[in-house]
Amino acid sequence: MRVRFPPPQLDLARAHALGVALPLASIALSLALRPLVVDVPFALFVPAVVFATYLGGLGPGLVALGLSAALCTYALIPPYGAFGPSFAEVGAAGIFLVVGGALCWVASELREGYLERHTAREAAHRELQEWFRTLLETIPQMVWTSDGSGRAEFQNSQIRDYTGKSDAELAGGRWRRLLHRDDRRSTVALWRRMRERGTGGEGTLRLLGRDGRYRWFLVRAVHVRAVDGRLRQWIGTLTDINAQKESEDAKAEAVRARDVFLSVASHELKTPVAAALLQIQKAHRMLRRTEAAADLPGIAQRVAASAASVERLGVLVGTLLDVSRIATGKLTLERRRFDLTESVTSVAARHAEAADRAGCAIEVDVAPGVTALGDRLRIEQVITNLLSNAVKYGAGRPIALGLARRNDVALLTVADRGIGIAPEDQARIFQPFERAVSAHHYGGLGLGLWIAREIIEAGGGAIRVKSHPREGSTFCVELPLARGSSDPGPREATPPADGA
Ligand code: ADP
Repeated sequence: MRVRFPPPQLDLARAHALGVALPLASIALSLALRPLVVDVPFALFVPAVVFATYLGGLGPGLVALGLSAALCTYALIPPYGAFGPSFAEVGAAGIFLVVGGALCWVASELREGYLERHTAREAAHRELQEWFRTLLETIPQMVWTSDGSGRAEFQNSQIRDYTGKSDAELAGGRWRRLLHRDDRRSTVALWRRMRERGTGGEGTLRLLGRDGRYRWFLVRAVHVRAVDGRLRQWIGTLTDINAQKESEDAKAEAVRARDVFLSVASHELKTPVAAALLQIQKAHRMLRRTEAAADLPGIAQRVAASAASVERLGVLVGTLLDVSRIATGKLTLERRRFDLTESVTSVAARHAEAADRAGCAIEVDVAPGVTALGDRLRIEQVITNLLSNAVKYGAGRPIALGLARRNDVALLTVADRGIGIAPEDQARIFQPFERAVSAHHYGGLGLGLWIAREIIEAGGGAIRVKSHPREGSTFCVELPLARGSSDPGPREATPPADGA
């Protein structure tokens, strides 16, 4: 056990009074106990001198020492009631003064040492407090503390500056009046929960400023426990997140407006585009049948070009419509068995001519009789998209289109030997509007792969890419096989080459 006996810091008069009072008390006690102290007359004066020094300092200690020597020689050493001078008196007084003086010095050293340590500790504590206070006044956050019972203890000046209220005006729960009425219930509930459980907490709220306007704040509080586990206080901060909230609201509003626009615009565009395409294609067919007139080839060429443009427009509108469906959660997919081998082969045949024109022969290597489960038209849309990308980004080089069974899935691969994709871009190109090429060199909206991923994943499949810049890219699509999909042979998918 550690006993602490800190010396008090008495003023000069009191300290000296103590230096007088203690010897007087000692002589009174010695006279009362005379038979006991007759052989050791200074016995009760030694503690008086030590205590007077330790409690009052060296000055009062010496006063006590001198007074003790005088009182003791006068009253307790023969001849009693007079100063001798006898040999006994002088000898005893001399020894007492020497021993007492030494004890005075030791007690005074002890006292000074303790006081020095105490003063240094207090100075360090004050410095730390000052440092914290300056820090709390410098940071932009509002800071408050409450004691273990929830009573407000401290609020930095930022709180007073923002609210225009004094500490007293916010005390006793009156801060609740500054909360926005829509946030009052949740904030009070949060505070109640924290108090009941004795824990910290976090939330957002709107607080009324001195300008009469509300701003959003993130409130965060932590609890502090004493060494014995008792809840000592809460320290809380309020961080202004108004700008962030406003920009989030604006962003959400913009996204909503964009989705509505996309949905309306694509629906409005789709019908006339489809009708125009139909008419132009029909006219083109009619013109091709009429071979007599001499100027007909020229007209036919123009109509063919217009048909191609309208077709591109149709694809664009279809893309917009898909984006709007995905954004509004209205992308619905069929889930039926269909012949994936047949789909892959026919999409490849449809694109063969355009691919040839771009110098990309499509090398088809598909396993027969692969039956998948999903939305045939949507899967064909994905294959078309991957083939178009392979032609666009791998022009002049052959494209390998593969289909095989692998474990329990159908594995479709589209590999080109084009520009490839840098590793850091390979994940983000599946996100909306993300592109890894410059718009100067390659046209596009950056939506195709996102739509493809949405379609594939919604159907229970997966899509990924393996690529090296300038060596080409391989897009791998895994699709669920239909139950009982016939397996005509031992053929297994060769894992797609890493790269082209
Ligand atoms: P778009 O082609 O219209 O930009 P996509 O969503 O189809 O949009 O593709 C996103 C991006 O992925 C492209 O801009 C391109 O940078 C990259 N990319 C897609 N396919 C390939 C490919 N076969 N080779 C190289 N890069 C590709």
